[in-house]
Amino acid sequence: MRILLANDDGIYSPGLLALAHAARRFGEVRIFAPDVEQSSMGHAITHSRPLTVKRTPLDGFQAWRVNGTPADCAALGLNVWEGADVVLSGINLGANLGNAAWHSGTLAAARQAALLGSRGIALSTPTRGSEPDFATLEPYVVRVLETVLPDGTLRLVNVNLPREPTGLCWTRLSIRHYDGRVVPGEDPMGRKHYWLTVHPIEEVEEGTDRWALRHGLVSLSPLRLDPTDVDGLEAAARQHPFSD
Ligand code: MN
Repeated sequence: MRILLANDDGIYSPGLLALAHAARRFGEVRIFAPDVEQSSMGHAITHSRPLTVKRTPLDGFQAWRVNGTPADCAALGLNVWEGADVVLSGINLGANLGNAAWHSGTLAAARQAALLGSRGIALSTPTRGSEPDFATLEPYVVRVLETVLPDGTLRLVNVNLPREPTGLCWTRLSIRHYDGRVVPGEDPMGRKHYWLTVHPIEEVEEGTDRWALRHGLVSLSPLRLDPTDVDGLEAAARQHPFSD
């Protein structure tokens, strides 16, 4: 199996290296990752300038650093390394739960792979308090890959690992439990500025990714590429038919 690795934390992230070591058991690994951190870039792509790719020594892995976005890295890697079977993205330093699916660069690299006809798996872990212990996570990363990699019907999966996993479970995104806050502040010159934050959520619905992490379980959310509201489409077409 040919396994392409990407991330949004940048090529020198310890999370990327941890994923590379876990992934090498399953096949040949090559890495295309951003040269600097690109977190929360979402699915941005670079179209107004060319991308540069530089070979980078990385603990014995074949690795290239790219001056582009996470989605660029997946697209470029899949193009340069023809026949790559899957893109693994991460392990992100920070969970990507619920609505983070819309702005996560980690998930965007995996989604770009799925959009290009390949497959994508995004992996993230919380960092609140202290750095993740990747040695603790490794057996669970391996279990995730053992489960997901051989199943070609899983085209895009968002995986989140709690700090100390006790098991795994399939989940849906906790989209309804997102609460973004804007916090005002002041810079040293007295000018007003704002921080965009995500406020912790109190109520967590069972079966969601956030619920899984609260219960010490690795969350695996299979995602689709088409976000069309099928019920809404049917209702709208029924209630507001266009005759022209
Ligand atoms: Mn990140």
